[in-house]
Amino acid sequence: MVILVTGGAGFLGSHLCERLLGQGHEVLCLDNFFTGRRRNVLHLMDNPHFELVRHDVVDPFKFEVDRIYNLACPASPVHYQYNPIKTVKTSVMGAINCLGLAKRVGARILQASTSEVYGDPEVHPQPESYRGNVNPIGLRACYDEGKRCAETLFFDYHRENKVDIRVVRIFNTYGPRMLPDDGRVVSNFIVQALKGEDITIYGDGSQTRSFCFMDDLLEGMMKMMEQNECVGPINIGNPNEFTIRQLAQTVIKKIDSKSSLVEMPLPSDDPTQRKPDISQAQKLLDWNPRIELEEGLDKTIPYFQEILEI
Ligand code: NAD
Ligand code: UDP
Repeated sequence: MVILVTGGAGFLGSHLCERLLGQGHEVLCLDNFFTGRRRNVLHLMDNPHFELVRHDVVDPFKFEVDRIYNLACPASPVHYQYNPIKTVKTSVMGAINCLGLAKRVGARILQASTSEVYGDPEVHPQPESYRGNVNPIGLRACYDEGKRCAETLFFDYHRENKVDIRVVRIFNTYGPRMLPDDGRVVSNFIVQALKGEDITIYGDGSQTRSFCFMDDLLEGMMKMMEQNECVGPINIGNPNEFTIRQLAQTVIKKIDSKSSLVEMPLPSDDPTQRKPDISQAQKLLDWNPRIELEEGLDKTIPYFQEILEI
């Protein structure tokens, strides 16, 4: 198949391109390099089945493809809040452009949605049926509401135009190729611990997240794309829940770092708890995450050591 991956030069997108090429597909990687990097796909450039296109999903595009994975959107709060209006445009106009293309060429299309659609959840763990608790005017709204609107568009194109959609809601996923200045918690803590700098805990560190290693996530996402039973939305994540303080302590222990923990102000609307209910993915996709936090950190830390030359 010919497969378009928007956001294909980013952290998850570049690993996805690699896997799709490994399965023998033609891969078109489209990216505007906002948080993606050419170096993430440099090793794929010699592959005759790989093509890199510098383009912004906000502007229309046309390709003859069989599948579209729509991953284009900054995912770290630091990056998506840098230009919030652009973030909304990327999510909403990017979805419209991808869906318009899927409709024209009859491609199946998957949206990389997010646990952020649940906002600061009052239901724990979060099943797909939970409608969420998002502040529509807060600092995170550009991302949360942008992704919610993208889901709306996916389901309207599905109902109105019979577009063959799939929607996955991704919970905090980490691994090699995250940017060292990405701003998300796993990369921040590893970089700080490796450099012996203070580990920045926002708030008192009692807020929770459930961390999924990228290999598990990609397997679930690709299974979702290639099954015919359900369009989603479906949660993909690892349900093992940690406080942010526990994560910091685990990273310090793994790296045997001299770093100390310091508390910094908690950003507004920071969700207090997050953990996926993955019973749908277990049942419909026969999928389970396999790589727990300590093992995932062991696979991620060497990448940061290498790029930071530590
Ligand atoms: P990332 O920032 O590494 O990747 C996003 C990619 O999209 C980058 O390559 C970036 O340059 C590109 N991009 C951004 N705006 C664009 C635009 N207007 N046009 C073209 N390309 C654009 O982040 P990631 O973690 O790899 O996330 C990939 C997708 O998965 C995102 O849609 C994100 O919302 C979603 N997601 C990720 C997580 C996670 O924990 N990693 C969680 C939930 C959802
Ligand atoms: N966080 C933190 N220190 C950091 C970066 C993040 O304590 O240096 C916290 C953040 O406040 C949030 C959690 O870690 O409670 C996860 O943050 P991240 O930005 O990785 O993802 P999200 O909030 O979108 O889940």
